[in-house]
Amino acid sequence: MGAVSTMMPAAFIGHGSPMNAVESNRYTEAWRAFGAAVPRPRAILVISAHWYIHATAVTAMPRPRTIHDFFGFPQQLFEVSYPAPGLPALAAEISDVVKPMWVGADLDSWGIDHGTWSVLVHAFPDADIPVVQLSLKADTELDYHLELGARLAPLREDGVLILGSGNIVHNLRALDFSRPDAGYDWARRFDEAARDALTGADPSEFAALDGHPDFGGAVPTPDHFLPALYLAGLADAAGQRADKFVGGCAYGSLSMASYALGVHPRASGGGSPTPGCPTEAPPEESNI
Ligand code: ZN
Repeated sequence: MGAVSTMMPAAFIGHGSPMNAVESNRYTEAWRAFGAAVPRPRAILVISAHWYIHATAVTAMPRPRTIHDFFGFPQQLFEVSYPAPGLPALAAEISDVVKPMWVGADLDSWGIDHGTWSVLVHAFPDADIPVVQLSLKADTELDYHLELGARLAPLREDGVLILGSGNIVHNLRALDFSRPDAGYDWARRFDEAARDALTGADPSEFAALDGHPDFGGAVPTPDHFLPALYLAGLADAAGQRADKFVGGCAYGSLSMASYALGVHPRASGGGSPTPGCPTEAPPEESNI
């Protein structure tokens, strides 16, 4: 096992709207700063909200396709390609490192979905680092994902950059498009509780957030929340504290908070990179 200084950073990215892939705003600038701040990885392992199935699987094809898993967005978004190679050998490494937990190899069903590429087009625009995705197993306890995240920790010492991609508060039914940069009170409360757990001394407390009174509103379905448990598990395994490197709320019911482990990216430009979720929109920002 290497020293702490040889450990690859890890992160949870709040990805928000797919349109972030083709826009430039303070979130995408923060993702870009994150990519520039980390050592060049051997591979990027992404746990995306958008691969939510009934098994834990890892992509194992040499040339993963770019998946446009949304509808109703401009053609420009359907034309985005992220042609990074896969790394089939990593599937076997992952299956080994998580034992006795079980991870299957996916040879042909998935690829690189927009939870992954909408972030990577900014963080790693050259698309020349192998990308592998790990699915989210539906209908499992939060502790399952926390433990699986912790078991992935040795990969950080083997050049693998692990990224969760989702949103800690993600309630599409409650979206209020008149408030592009604001959050409901309950969204702000849950976002702050999640921040306290993820950046605190015991990140495993993140898996107890389902007892928070605002959990039902913030997490009506688990898919976007679960990727953050992988960062909590990695933080717990390493005895490291995560750092919130960009924050904010969008459309009332989305948290755009992103957290990093082992690196402190700072985007250029003015303003606080990590505001919470103001309940009133700033007058002249519309950056999602
Ligand atoms: Zn999403």
